[in-house]
Amino acid sequence: MATITTGKNAFLHGRWSIEESMKLYGVADWGKGYVGVNALGNVTITPGKESQRSIDLFEVIEGLRERGIHTPVLLRFNDILSHRLREIRKAFDDTMGEQGYVGGYSCVYPIKVNQQRHICEQMAAECVALNFGLEAGSKPELLAVLGLSATAGGPGVNGMPIICNGFKDAEFIETVMLATKLGRNIIPVVEKWTELELVVKYAKQYGVRPRIGIRVKLSSKGAGRWEGSAGVRSKFGLFVSEVLSAVDYLKRHEMLDCLNLLHCHVGSQLYDIRVLKNAINELTHIYCELHRLGAGLTMLDIGGGMGVDYDGSQSAWSSSINYSVQEYAADVVYRVKSVCDDARVPHPQIITESGRAMVAYSSVLVVDVLGTSSFASDPDMARIQGDMKSEAERGGEVPQPVLDLLDTYQSLTDRNLVEAYHDSTQARDEAMSLFSLGYMSLAMRAAAERLFWAIGHKLLEKASRRGELPDEFENLPETLSDIYFCNFSLFQSMPDSWAIDQLFPICPIHRLAEEPARRGILCDITCDSDGKIDHFVDKRIDKKTLELHEVRDLPGEGAGVEPYYLGVFLLGAYQEILGDLHNLLGDTHAVHLSIDEQGQWQIDEVIEGDTVEEVLRYVQYDIDDMKRAMRLDIEAACRQGRLTVAEGKSLLKFYDDGLEGYTYLEA
Ligand SMILES: *Cc1c(COP(=O)(O)O)cnc(C)c1O
Repeated sequence: MATITTGKNAFLHGRWSIEESMKLYGVADWGKGYVGVNALGNVTITPGKESQRSIDLFEVIEGLRERGIHTPVLLRFNDILSHRLREIRKAFDDTMGEQGYVGGYSCVYPIKVNQQRHICEQMAAECVALNFGLEAGSKPELLAVLGLSATAGGPGVNGMPIICNGFKDAEFIETVMLATKLGRNIIPVVEKWTELELVVKYAKQYGVRPRIGIRVKLSSKGAGRWEGSAGVRSKFGLFVSEVLSAVDYLKRHEMLDCLNLLHCHVGSQLYDIRVLKNAINELTHIYCELHRLGAGLTMLDIGGGMGVDYDGSQSAWSSSINYSVQEYAADVVYRVKSVCDDARVPHPQIITESGRAMVAYSSVLVVDVLGTSSFASDPDMARIQGDMKSEAERGGEVPQPVLDLLDTYQSLTDRNLVEAYHDSTQARDEAMSLFSLGYMSLAMRAAAERLFWAIGHKLLEKASRRGELPDEFENLPETLSDIYFCNFSLFQSMPDSWAIDQLFPICPIHRLAEEPARRGILCDITCDSDGKIDHFVDKRIDKKTLELHEVRDLPGEGAGVEPYYLGVFLLGAYQEILGDLHNLLGDTHAVHLSIDEQGQWQIDEVIEGDTVEEVLRYVQYDIDDMKRAMRLDIEAACRQGRLTVAEGKSLLKFYDDGLEGYTYLEA
């Protein structure tokens, strides 16, 4: 027997409460105190986790609309970011205090996780306050980080550690050497042998005593999606034998004291803490050996990988993690300390590059539902009867499968569910082959389909009332679930959902005091059938449909639907920069929000999304040429009487306005 997940939640009886919505969507599990639901049934964001200071997301979206900022919109909460960084700082400080660890800790932010200027500027300022740093993995990122560490302002900027990972050329190394002279605390991490030679060469040329790091290929394997980040076949780092040669090389050049940092990176979203423990153990042993050989090591950089519990299940699988920030910190510190104490080596400063864990919580995407498509539970008997009658009048016979389906539908009882399911599936298949062979009219085929869906709905309703779903029709709920069309691009806003099947928590941001009566999957507005979400977070099962509210039509033909908004949470890490322009759907608007002294939400910053013009320019269109060509075409059509002058003017205006407008739909 499977858990019941029906198109219509027939099993949810009685009065519905906000608490039930919280539980259903797992808000408290993945929201970790940042996300909640208020008495109005709206989702709230509580940036500092103090419940009296929260922001009503539905109110925000309505307020943004009044200001002309349409969904899809990405909401960023600087205060969540700030709180997260302090949580990480505190976890390490606390455990170091308890364990008597004296080396200190610093977290460096790899900007590849989200390079947006507004985020990085805040990050740079926080880093100064918290004694954290920044990490760059490429030439453009290095230049960005050098700029960021200059403008962060105030005292201490020059002490902020800047770690340079990734492959480097001569120009990169020269820049780093000169930046060292400038006063930056910058540490190039040697990823391959030739980089070491370049570092030594330019250090001498510019008369610099650089701080050098080395990334080492561990024998400990990574795990999960990014297991290739570690192990001897990994792309980056030196073999242990090369590390030993590096020690000799630096000694020969009288620079062994410059070897300050040892680095490894085991992979991202490490869901099982054991993997990390093994790697740290190995890395710390190498650290101690090199220390003994006279290297001037003071920093142990264990890379990124601190995971995020996207589904709230606290378990060792890809969208979750089986540890808390506090447990992560305690385990890391304990390992490093015990190995160093045994070897009588001073405790190093521990560095982590926990990008995902720093920023994932701070962004939420809100999308509007444009409409739905569903398989009707009502077969429309009057119409079927009418169609059968006209079939007979035209001298045809009502095909047997249609009669069988009708009979199954009418005679369905609690006692023959499985039999009815088999009968209806068989009749439906027969109907489809008759149609393909040309023996059935389109009207009769439509009747067969409608009856089949109606039987499916009735089966599920009866089964769920009994509280169990026979294995035979385990897949029926997904087959019959609704499709909700949402105004966004999966490829732009949550690419990892498509690329690596990552789950992100999704929940309506209002109407949570109301029972969600439907089940559905979500489709975006790209013309790509991959642009859909059909897996959802759940603590126990692989959930293939999401509970959703009925979307109500507005009065009047073509008037659209009442606003219905869904929030996609924990999007702060990787999604923005990995997102692409599929179908030329560009960046969404992004809005930075905070709470003022009176407890009101306020807009700190609006970063408008791409306009159509901008995305077209990106793919080399000449906007002026296009406008000119359209104008000439419209003029000709007016001259030849195909368009009136007024129509021509309107079309041209739509064209011009469209170019300046949002790439998403604006209902
Ligand atoms: C990507 C990367 C990180 C960040 O990893 P997270 O999983 O986001 O913590 C850290 N260090 C290096 C070397 C990386 O390549």
